[in-house]
Amino acid sequence: MPKKKIIILGAGITGLVSAYYFSKNKDFEVTLIEKESFIGGTARGFEHKDFILDYGPHKIYTELPGILEEIKQVVPLLKIKKKNSIYLKNNSFDFPLQISQIATKIPFTAFNAGIDIFSKSLKKLSDDSYENYLINRFGKTMYELSFKDYAKKVWTSNPQELDKELAIRRVAISGIFELIKGILFKNTKNISAEYFYYPPKGIKQLLDSLAEKIIQNKGKILLNTDISEIKIKDKKIEFVKIKNKKIKPDYFISTAYLDTVIKIINDAKKTKELIQSTENLNYQGINIIYFVINKPRILKDCWMFFPEAKFLFHRISEQKAFSPNLGPEDKTILMVETTKDASKNNIQKIIFQLEKIKILKKEDIDYHFVKSTERTYPIYKKGFQKNLIPVINYLENIKGFYTIGRPGLFNYNNMDQCWDMAKKTVEHIEKNKSKDEWQKTKKYFDKYRIVD
Ligand SMILES: Cc1cc2nc3c(=O)[nH]c(=O)nc-3n(C[C@H](O)[C@H](O)[C@H](O)COP(=O)(O)OP(=O)(O)OC[C@H]3O[C@@H](n4cnc5c(N)ncnc54)[C@H](O)[C@@H]3O)c2cc1C
Repeated sequence: MPKKKIIILGAGITGLVSAYYFSKNKDFEVTLIEKESFIGGTARGFEHKDFILDYGPHKIYTELPGILEEIKQVVPLLKIKKKNSIYLKNNSFDFPLQISQIATKIPFTAFNAGIDIFSKSLKKLSDDSYENYLINRFGKTMYELSFKDYAKKVWTSNPQELDKELAIRRVAISGIFELIKGILFKNTKNISAEYFYYPPKGIKQLLDSLAEKIIQNKGKILLNTDISEIKIKDKKIEFVKIKNKKIKPDYFISTAYLDTVIKIINDAKKTKELIQSTENLNYQGINIIYFVINKPRILKDCWMFFPEAKFLFHRISEQKAFSPNLGPEDKTILMVETTKDASKNNIQKIIFQLEKIKILKKEDIDYHFVKSTERTYPIYKKGFQKNLIPVINYLENIKGFYTIGRPGLFNYNNMDQCWDMAKKTVEHIEKNKSKDEWQKTKKYFDKYRIVD
């Protein structure tokens, strides 16, 4: 029997993992297409002198059954005790926030949070925005303390205009009672990861190892390659055009952005509304400032959150807290994440802010460099699903066409969820499961949540 042809668009983690599983099955012939000169997409790593760095720290943590074991078959993993904190009102708190620390360090705020709980102010507002959803579950005081400014900073949007789905996916605990229960009964599992995992030589090691295995298994990875056309007729793929060559795949898996895919589709049934819908799905880009520091280590934490508006950055981290192999002994790098506009012409102000809260001393900085990523965070504006659902429905109505991954479904997936999604998609295709089964699998994808 001839092998079934699989084309996968995008060599981020979702595309790489999909290609890895297909390459293990002799009934399939897999080609992975990547427009950039490198693999890894959002999770890509890079080398800088003696350092190995991520684009923002990429820890591995998963609650999904079997996924950690699958990752360990591809790359060795260090198990790291997680230590992170959140900086609020001139104090550093353990993350997730602990009521006892709030009571000691900022008693007035703790008192107001208590009033919120007992005055039954919770669950009064209609659950129709990020803001209302969180106030209903955490009270106004806690919302204003840790969620409101963070949303303004990261998504540069008014939190009233953001969809409640953002709160559901990004905030792992469902409310203050679960938070208190977790703390009282020392069950923080649902709130925050106690440990996380990381390859000794950076996330890059995981991605490189996936690529090696795909090639060993005779899968193809084409870098610097674009698909210029996907010709659709009567809900079937007639061909895809790669470097002016027409290929007819049995299955096509896209992990690219929805607007990119819709643009290259050539189909008489493609409407202007569909194009417009993909253009209404927006993203926030970030800048990461890497400060090279003349010291072996700089933070006690792996990473620290800064939700307050007064800080130009929203998170800082140190890659050497993940693995000592990621830099030379005598130097370290502080990674500072900001939105695009916040750091433009503001490096000196950022240094000043970091000095003021005693994270670093200006004279310890050797030099800095900045890396930018464009479409980093999906912005879930209220009602974004009205734009998203018709596009997904259109694509899924094409026989053998799947759109998955973080850009492919406009979601907040972490890497473990990308892995799980890729694995389940491959199984679905290998077992030739029905469309109804696919919808069930998709509902399962919707339940993924991020645990920081
Ligand atoms: C700052 C930051 C920190 C994060 N921290 C963590 C963490 O600690 N732990 C964790 O698990 N996850 C983390 N994540 C999430 C993680 O990065 C993503 O879940 C993951 O990288 C998404 O992979 P993907 O393959 O779905 O998408 P992507 O990585 O976006 O891959 C899509 C690929 O498609 C390619 N492409 C696009 N258009 C085309 C085209 N026309 N032709 C060919 N190729 C194309 C792109 O170049 C890219 O390689 C973090 C994300 C960010 C932004």
